[in-house]
Amino acid sequence: MATIKIIGAGLAGSECAYALARRGHRVVLHEMRPVKSTQAHHTSNLAELVCSNSFRSSAATNAVGLLKQEMARVGSLVIRCGEDARVPAGDAFAVDRDRFSAAVTDAIANEPNISLQRGEVTTLDRGDADFLVVATGPLTSDPLFHAIDEFLGRDGLYFYDAIAPIVAADSLDFSKLYWKSRYGKGNATDYLNAAMNREEYEAFVAALLSAELFAPHDFEKAVHFEGCLPVEEIASRGIDTLRFGPMKPVGLEHPETNERPHAVVQLRKEDLSDEYFNLVGFQTKMRIPEQQRVIRMIPGLANATFARFGSMHRNTFINGPRHLRATFQTKRDERVFFAGQITGVEGYVESSAVGLLVARYIDELARTGTATPLPYHTALGALGRHVAESSPDRYQPSNVTWALIEDVVGRAKKIEKRERQAAAALSTIEKIA
Ligand SMILES: Cc1cc2nc3c(=O)[nH]c(=O)nc-3n(C[C@H](O)[C@H](O)[C@H](O)COP(=O)(O)OP(=O)(O)OC[C@H]3O[C@@H](n4cnc5c(N)ncnc54)[C@H](O)[C@@H]3O)c2cc1C
Repeated sequence: MATIKIIGAGLAGSECAYALARRGHRVVLHEMRPVKSTQAHHTSNLAELVCSNSFRSSAATNAVGLLKQEMARVGSLVIRCGEDARVPAGDAFAVDRDRFSAAVTDAIANEPNISLQRGEVTTLDRGDADFLVVATGPLTSDPLFHAIDEFLGRDGLYFYDAIAPIVAADSLDFSKLYWKSRYGKGNATDYLNAAMNREEYEAFVAALLSAELFAPHDFEKAVHFEGCLPVEEIASRGIDTLRFGPMKPVGLEHPETNERPHAVVQLRKEDLSDEYFNLVGFQTKMRIPEQQRVIRMIPGLANATFARFGSMHRNTFINGPRHLRATFQTKRDERVFFAGQITGVEGYVESSAVGLLVARYIDELARTGTATPLPYHTALGALGRHVAESSPDRYQPSNVTWALIEDVVGRAKKIEKRERQAAAALSTIEKIA
């Protein structure tokens, strides 16, 4: 039995702590909230979801769907609590965020092998522990950020993400909105849609382009993750770019007229009680009065009240290929691991998955003296491949994609190929679970 110090009880830290505790190890889990918070967290709950409430696709023919299925097979706490807090969202896996993080917090509190300590950690000192896991996420506090930079040799990286606004259901004009999931997938009442004609759309794009934005801090440069661009950034790439992105009207024909709108804003339920809606894909850096002005131009949202405004934030990650092995151990010290988004994976599911992987590797190391990365044809193993084997000069955070998963199938039609790849990956995971 080993003792493990984990810094950060977000998605990765909680997943890692729980998996280690269930294997009989003793864990001291440090979380700075509520003593000190980040720019994006609002509660003291562990594993708080800071933006969207979605764990994305469920289908195993989608790489993130496969990753979730693999995680479920190796006993993921995040997937179990997510299933318990699931809300309808078409073929996406979305959760009631409060129920979800409360369930994770309870599970950690009830685990006798975990001692949870609230307060900021500012050094990478392992103390008496056998292993140290740094799982402090994209919003790692400044003193620890500097300690990490020092430990790794001063090439920490950063870029910006932006949060989508949430509006209250009772402020919406439902006569101007309609319920529909894209292509009719899932339940009819999973998404509310605000349709725009060409004139409305062009006026909306013009308003986005002229809106005043939060300026980046001097010490940060604005580098965006392509999968999570602010809506005004997408709009700046061409008049139709939004219509081919988050405002895509395809599959959202009006249920009564069957007409396809020029563009559509989708609103997804935030909670089981249907009190709040998230504007899908509407991450934004607009200043707050500008958000009120521009978002209220959307049909049905003229009187929208905001439960949360969009915002911008720093996203810290380290240069994985330069500093990490495929087991997420640092090259500098095999007893120091990084887990979660800070390793350069992107997304709730991927961050949690790395927590689960690190628990597995620490357990293996403690028992046998060595840790072996999972095969790269599994979605879990592919995350280690991305972190350790990408080009260090072009390293950028990444969601799990089929491009990262080793191809053991060869040429085949796309869907058939994905099905066979998923079957091979799940069969491997089942053997080692
Ligand atoms: C604003 C924002 C929006 C995002 N939106 C999405 C989204 O919509 N969908 C998606 O899939 N992904 C999103 N992400 C990316 C990512 O999936 C999440 O950040 C995810 O929570 C990462 O998990 P994690 O465990 O690595 O970090 P976190 O969940 O952030 O957990 C890190 C924990 O460490 C704590 N901590 C930090 N520093 C210290 C310290 N010095 N001492 C002690 N504790 C510390 C923090 O309080 C936090 O609880 C978003 C990220 C950000 C920042």
